[in-house]
Amino acid sequence: MIEGRRIQIRGTVQGVGFRPWVFRLATEEGIAGRVRNDTSGVTIDAFGASPALDAFLARLGGPVPPAASVRDLTFEEIPAEDADRFSIVESDSAGERAISIPPDLATCPECLAEVFDPANPRFQYAFTNCTHCGPRFTIATGVPYDRPATTMTRFSMCGSCRREYESVLDRRFHAQPNACPACGPSLVLTTSSGETFGNGNPIAAAARALKDGLIVAIKGLGGFHLACDAGSPVAVARLRRRKHRDEKPFAVMVESLQAARRIARIDGEEERLLTSVEAPIVLLQRLEDAPLAPEIAPANPLVGLFLPYTPLHHLLLARFGGPLVMTSGNVSDEPMACGNDEALEKLHDIADLFLLHDREIATRADDSVVRVIGGRTTVLRRSRGYVPRAVPVARAFDRPVLACGAQLKNTFCIGVRDSAYLGAHIGDLENLASYRSYEEAIDRMEKFLSVHPEVIAHDLHPDYLSTLYADARPEETKVAVQHHHAHVASAMAEHGLEGPVIGVAYDGTGYGTDGTAWGGEVLVARLADFQRLGTFRPIPLAGGDVAIRQVWRIALALVDDAFSGSPPLDEIPLFRGIPKTEVELVRRMAAGRIAAPLARGVGRYFDGIGALVLGRDAATYEGQVALAWNLAADPDEGGAYPYELERNGLATLDLAPLVRAVLTDLADGRAASTISGRFHNTIALATRELVRIAAAKAGRLPVVLTGGCFQNALLAKRIVGLLEPEFRVYRHGEIPPGDGGIALGQALVADAVARGEGR
Ligand code: ZN
Ligand code: ZN
Ligand code: FE
Repeated sequence: MIEGRRIQIRGTVQGVGFRPWVFRLATEEGIAGRVRNDTSGVTIDAFGASPALDAFLARLGGPVPPAASVRDLTFEEIPAEDADRFSIVESDSAGERAISIPPDLATCPECLAEVFDPANPRFQYAFTNCTHCGPRFTIATGVPYDRPATTMTRFSMCGSCRREYESVLDRRFHAQPNACPACGPSLVLTTSSGETFGNGNPIAAAARALKDGLIVAIKGLGGFHLACDAGSPVAVARLRRRKHRDEKPFAVMVESLQAARRIARIDGEEERLLTSVEAPIVLLQRLEDAPLAPEIAPANPLVGLFLPYTPLHHLLLARFGGPLVMTSGNVSDEPMACGNDEALEKLHDIADLFLLHDREIATRADDSVVRVIGGRTTVLRRSRGYVPRAVPVARAFDRPVLACGAQLKNTFCIGVRDSAYLGAHIGDLENLASYRSYEEAIDRMEKFLSVHPEVIAHDLHPDYLSTLYADARPEETKVAVQHHHAHVASAMAEHGLEGPVIGVAYDGTGYGTDGTAWGGEVLVARLADFQRLGTFRPIPLAGGDVAIRQVWRIALALVDDAFSGSPPLDEIPLFRGIPKTEVELVRRMAAGRIAAPLARGVGRYFDGIGALVLGRDAATYEGQVALAWNLAADPDEGGAYPYELERNGLATLDLAPLVRAVLTDLADGRAASTISGRFHNTIALATRELVRIAAAKAGRLPVVLTGGCFQNALLAKRIVGLLEPEFRVYRHGEIPPGDGGIALGQALVADAVARGEGR
């Protein structure tokens, strides 16, 4: 008795060898019928005896090909057909479509074995890939995802590659970037003026140059890296100098997991991340005796490691035989270079040599960055390997939404039907080059999704470039979303929470509904609206954003405030190094509120107290002192400082008592690690009190923790530890807690507001 079933599978199932896998299962189970890609995934019409169909379904629900992931599998009975075999039919591209382009995938074990097998035709071939691995998103130029719509279109497959591509049972069946040395892209090593350097093997020559301490710009998957010998203090210092990058840590690529273990402590989840197809940079605890130049991450116990994710990287690392600094190939705050000419033009003062190739990068994608925080994987920068994977949302978007994001570490989000698509990391939207890159990325994503947004969401800040972009869009419906509300909504989206929730949103700064800078906020939020129930008492910051680098100004504002204008500045070592006239000027600015906007970011407290206790007057990048202050903490410290809480109306946390107590501890010669531990404990205790106040008004709702401060592992752990006995607590996972995740929240808020759900 032959029966029929139509099986629909959604998830990452296109361009990852899913249909050939289905074909093999069907053949093995004696199932006839067909499989095809459709607009939202894969549809299978299966015909066979009932037990065979059951077995087939069970296997479809089991382990899938390495790069695939199934979000949803449904089936229904259909009339039996008289089919005698199983086949793969061409894509059905009619109708609206979900994105069919998968993220880029790290080299699979089979391809790797071929690249290192002298007998294989792809021996040492840097562009080897198959259905399970290789470039995807970064080479796509259109949809449907097919060779002519990629930058591989200029290479025509040789007979042997074509046979692999067309054979259902081959690992390279429909692998769009399939190539071999005879027909595919090739490498060249050049000088900074573009002349070919050395003769013979470019990878071997590049490895030798790196050994000699030179800096090599390397064209990778989503853009250029700048590489140098990670074991050489001279080389690393030279790269820092040429890149004008004072202390921001460099990421390090290591040849293998074993090599990574010589540098950092790696637990099970961290190992899984390092070896995953996404191959992100994983922030790890560095070992004391790690064979790395200290200049890689000065005064920082963490190190960002990643494994090679293309054959080019594998070959280079194997030749070089040690860890390499691999940092974004960009100048100052511009986007990473991704074209050969662009790299030669922009990086010629930094790199000595250029390892180039002729497979174009269509869309830029920086390396993603992840960290395991309190046992939970948290994506801090979601880019290569993750983009453009759909984020499922609990309630389908009413109309397509484009959310423009914020300013720093920005990206955008397009919401359509039941999915949200975050773009690749753009960086800080503060210069023309970033802005152009942002516009292009939005255009391309709209094209990939064949979507015309009808609702435009943007940050409430009137001066952000993303807001100006939103203003210039032709669509009529625009929704301004408060920054911290968007953070909270992004955490809600990640966990499918409809609200209301109690949202704890801690970050550096975000524009408030009252026009002041918010940054330590406890909200009761639904998607459409929110009520602000708790905050930090604001402090006037002389010079505004200038204080983000000159953190001594924040420290000064805190002590001035804590001692009502007569602080014991002479007793504080930090201020001894700063000219008296400058201190007085800044105090006058703050007192007179001259160019001294009010700020209340929790991140600013980390900056200010960190500056005070660590004696650091300046940060070379935003958040540097805050991070140092976080990492200084003794995690076993149990003490805490006093604080005050004003409970009338908006609950307002006053940390002046903490500032005074910190100064007493400092004067008593207490260790920075103890003071930092107590500081963290205090913020956590105060947070619990703010959350309890919100719960007393709004009920014991689920709590979401969001905002850049939750990249701080200790703070997150402390707050979760205190809240969990009383509340259901949610943290970020695949969506960054910082501003890189904010566009997702904006999209959901705008959808709810556009439906008229707001108060
Ligand atoms: Zn492969
Ligand atoms: Zn070929
Ligand atoms: Fe923020």
